[in-house]
Amino acid sequence: MNSICNREDSCTSAQREAAKHFEGPLLIVAGPGAGKTRVLVERVAYLVKKKKVDPSNILVITFTVKAAEELKARLSHCVGQEIVSMQISTIHSFCHEILRDYSDYHELGATFDVLDSEMQLMFMRANFYKLGINRLVNMGRISEVLDGFNKCGENIIPPNELSEHLKKRYPDNKKYQEFCKSYEKYLEALGEQKKIDFAGLQINVLKLLKNNPDVLKAIRDKYRFILVDEYQDTNPIQDEFFDLISNTHKNICVVGDEDQSIYAFRGADPWNFIRFKEKYDSKYVSLDKNFRSTSNIVKLFDGFMENYRSYPKKIEPSRECGNNIIILKSDDVTDEAKNVVRTIKQLKEDGIIPHYGYVALLFRSVRYHANKIIAELKKNDIPYTVKGHGSFLDRKEIQTMLYMLSYVDPPSYDDRFTSWNNWWNISMFETEFLNLNPKTVEALYNLEKDFDISSLLTKQEFVDIGMEDDQDINKLQQLNQLKQELSEKPRTILQTYYDILEISGYLKWLVTDETPKNQEKIYNLAQLSSILNKYEYMNKNPKIKDFMFYLYLLPSGMQYDEHVVDNPFSVNISTVHQSKGLEFPVVFICSVIKNRFPGRKKKEKNLVPIPQELLLKFKKKDLTLLTEDTILPDEFDMEERRLFYVAMTRAQDVLVVSTADKIKVNKVGYSPYVKEIEKIEEVTNSCKFMEMCKDRDLSKEKPISLSYSSIDTYNRCPFMYKMLYEYGFQTPPSYMQNYGIIIHNCLEKIHIGLKNDENIDGSRIKEIVQTCWITLHTNKKKDENQRMMVERNLLDYVHEVKDHSRKIISAEEPFSIVKKNMEINGRTDLILENNQGEIELLDFKAREQMGIEKTSVEFQLKMYEYALKDKYKFDKLCAYTFKDKQKTFFDSKPEDIDELDKNLEKLCDKINEHEFTPKESNFCTHCGFKFCC
Ligand code: SF4
Repeated sequence: MNSICNREDSCTSAQREAAKHFEGPLLIVAGPGAGKTRVLVERVAYLVKKKKVDPSNILVITFTVKAAEELKARLSHCVGQEIVSMQISTIHSFCHEILRDYSDYHELGATFDVLDSEMQLMFMRANFYKLGINRLVNMGRISEVLDGFNKCGENIIPPNELSEHLKKRYPDNKKYQEFCKSYEKYLEALGEQKKIDFAGLQINVLKLLKNNPDVLKAIRDKYRFILVDEYQDTNPIQDEFFDLISNTHKNICVVGDEDQSIYAFRGADPWNFIRFKEKYDSKYVSLDKNFRSTSNIVKLFDGFMENYRSYPKKIEPSRECGNNIIILKSDDVTDEAKNVVRTIKQLKEDGIIPHYGYVALLFRSVRYHANKIIAELKKNDIPYTVKGHGSFLDRKEIQTMLYMLSYVDPPSYDDRFTSWNNWWNISMFETEFLNLNPKTVEALYNLEKDFDISSLLTKQEFVDIGMEDDQDINKLQQLNQLKQELSEKPRTILQTYYDILEISGYLKWLVTDETPKNQEKIYNLAQLSSILNKYEYMNKNPKIKDFMFYLYLLPSGMQYDEHVVDNPFSVNISTVHQSKGLEFPVVFICSVIKNRFPGRKKKEKNLVPIPQELLLKFKKKDLTLLTEDTILPDEFDMEERRLFYVAMTRAQDVLVVSTADKIKVNKVGYSPYVKEIEKIEEVTNSCKFMEMCKDRDLSKEKPISLSYSSIDTYNRCPFMYKMLYEYGFQTPPSYMQNYGIIIHNCLEKIHIGLKNDENIDGSRIKEIVQTCWITLHTNKKKDENQRMMVERNLLDYVHEVKDHSRKIISAEEPFSIVKKNMEINGRTDLILENNQGEIELLDFKAREQMGIEKTSVEFQLKMYEYALKDKYKFDKLCAYTFKDKQKTFFDSKPEDIDELDKNLEKLCDKINEHEFTPKESNFCTHCGFKFCC
């Protein structure tokens, strides 16, 4: 086969065989570093280019959003604009789309919130008493209930079924019955509030498909070719979902590696992957050639897994033997930290690595096992980037901001907080956040212990306590005024957060000196704004103390990670789970100590023992031999083994396994894995390296994903773009934004309905508005009047479209423009053929004609025209303003397309070059960042 994607001549025969497979089920077993993404790309390109498969018939499911973005970027180079109509997404966003597209078939309607795990926790906290969780655990143990609910959800166990099973087995246990009631209330409350968790998302899609043969047929007809990456990490519901949608054409291709299945704790079941071949009687291709690691590393990890596989394979290295594999044996963990850091320094001094960015330190748990090594790196001035430490709340700027929030809206005395992290004190005034003069701080310290500084309101009062600096007095005075205002008229926490940033001048100071350290602080402040935004969305008018309490009682596995700026020259520290999919020239697997790695097998401590016969994975397996209390014999051991295997397979040139004999004074001994690997391959205890690592470019240039809104923001003010889209600040949603969302969602449903010849009359519009409504006014009457007005306007609009057009050509047409390392995605509102036979492209604006900025609307329409130029020839471009039902037309000139192309190129360059200079305009009046630009 000639190259499809221009590098195919260098493919192995197995890669080519997998890429060239056309119809029928296919299982691709892809060992580590075997180039599976490349095979996926080649395969999609083959289907589109050689087999002329319509791209809209292709569905590609990836495990993470990042993987989907990377795949899109790579595919766009191979298949170009055809990628636009392909569905490439995670399973969750695909399910979300199905529920939205077929919103008339289920009770959730078109608008509902999908709760990620953070929002799910917030939801349970907000409804703690209503759901009766308080009868099960105290607030600090809420994650046990959450785990229980998720387990029921992932296994489609309805509360009543669980209750009956538990009653039979534990007739006297009231708590178990309370759990079932609580779970039932949880599901009801989600439904009432139009929310859905991840498990619910998948269950609802399964139900929708099973109960509506026409929907199932439509999905099956549409997605004739299905490709699923990382199939070993699917859970039983997902497995059933893929069975269902691939059943007509059976063109399902799954890629994965049972050896790398490490997500059992999230419900993943490698069994789905293992039984795929037999279930589908599929073709089977094994990608055994490893392009990543040196031959001795390959021999080591292959030998480690050899006797534990269902699909036999022999991984072949493609690189010669390079450096030694080292086992670093230390006396205790303090000694281990010194040895690890000494070895890293030696690697650099001996010229084996050009800089520290070549090194990764992988841990079973960074939170619990990495502290000593991190301290030693710090001591030796070695830069490092750590992930998985959960240390967001330990950051000074975050602690100070939280302190300032509590300062302006203090909780009544509550000793829950006084003991928290020791930061509840006046020393917060000493930080760079307020940047007070040392004399001001001294004056603060000289005050009587119970003096209430927040009661001072006039300048004279500050002078009277010994303060001199006008700027400092001004800041403190404003903070105290804010406190007073809040006691009189509450406002949202997010608004207060921005008030404090403005008063302190801190953000302004950080953005005028954007060193990497300061950038990190800005990113973390932005992350706090995003947490606050979600929290306020999930809770009705919460108080600052409620938010503090939420943070204070975060379950240990759900602590927020601090944001770290990628630094290609620093040592990478992460958990093994986080390293999945990555590779590093030098890998240290640290703390490979008995009971740490592999971890200790604990007896599962569930709040409620969910009977095994209710678990999907047991239902699906032919496990007649299992008794009801057994777990698959070595399920835990296997998961640990796979985790260690994944860690080893990340190494390209050098692998160091570090172990210690003691933790503190307790002798625990080396991990059994150490003995095992010593038997497989020649390892050494000496840190003599033989060869320099291969030269590599480690700068991680991420593809930039844009929408029309982000481009519009950049054109209005590049600085604002930076704050919103680069750093990720969230600002409080405005009335106009919510109104715009309602109008847009209603129109989307109306257009799809019109396109499908649905009868859109007054009562249908009422229904549509009902499902899309977001409360705009707290006053019920006002809200109701507003809703009726929207209904009337929509009905007028439908009449106008019917009178004006012959047919709707397309509604919500997706498009994508790929430029350099940038991708612009979006959807058009409406394309129709008018009564004169002309093709019109329409975009809707919630406001009136006077309120739109013509140049930016014209740019938007021309960008859409440009994106769809190969598919449509538009005669008219039109903006429809909903409030006054007016149309504004723009000319479509072919020469504008070239101009637009050049403008987009320029815009990409500017964003890539970080050109974010503030641009003053009328827009500044309403801008949330005017205090810091
Ligand atoms: S105030 Fe004006 S110049 Fe400043 S960030 Fe906002 S829009 Fe840009």
